[in-house]
Amino acid sequence: MRVGVLALQGDVREHVRLLKEIGADPVAVKTREALDDVEGIVLPGGESTTIGFLLEKFELMDPLRKRIEDGMPTLGTCAGAILLASRIDGGDVPKLGVLDATMHRNAYGTQIESFEDDVDVEGAGTMHAVFIRAPIVEGVGEGVEVLATCRERPVVVRQGNVIAATFHPELADETGLHRMLLT
Ligand code: GLN
Repeated sequence: MRVGVLALQGDVREHVRLLKEIGADPVAVKTREALDDVEGIVLPGGESTTIGFLLEKFELMDPLRKRIEDGMPTLGTCAGAILLASRIDGGDVPKLGVLDATMHRNAYGTQIESFEDDVDVEGAGTMHAVFIRAPIVEGVGEGVEVLATCRERPVVVRQGNVIAATFHPELADETGLHRMLLT
């Protein structure tokens, strides 16, 4: 499966490496043409304000939203998860709004509050989760499944073709969510 990794900012290389490891065909997506050519997409971690700004600047926001709404398998990690949400607290982030959830940016605290933990993900097993200035999922709509929680908060959620994780599976070599994307 040809899977795009949105390559405007953030930890693109780590996702590309993981996707190769599980036998997918990863492609860095920076243009409309590249977007049209992929069958699934990963939105990496990084800085959601920057990625959102660049999505608009390069006129990728609307076409990407359309592809996701049309059912393209999509995985967002951390900043990528924020961009997917319909409601974002803690900053003015241009958003895709395809996931019925409220994400509160940087709500666990500053960089020194970043943490790691093991989480059980429904359908993907236990994985080591690295949270770096992660958002808190403050609420999800009725059509959203919570696949994992940590410290009493949802940390992996799914709405149909859209999967969002507030941590970085790609930094801990955890392939479960990427495999879920391919199936
Ligand atoms: N704090 C970042 C944001 O709000 C997300 C951090 C990350 O992706 N690790 O975009």
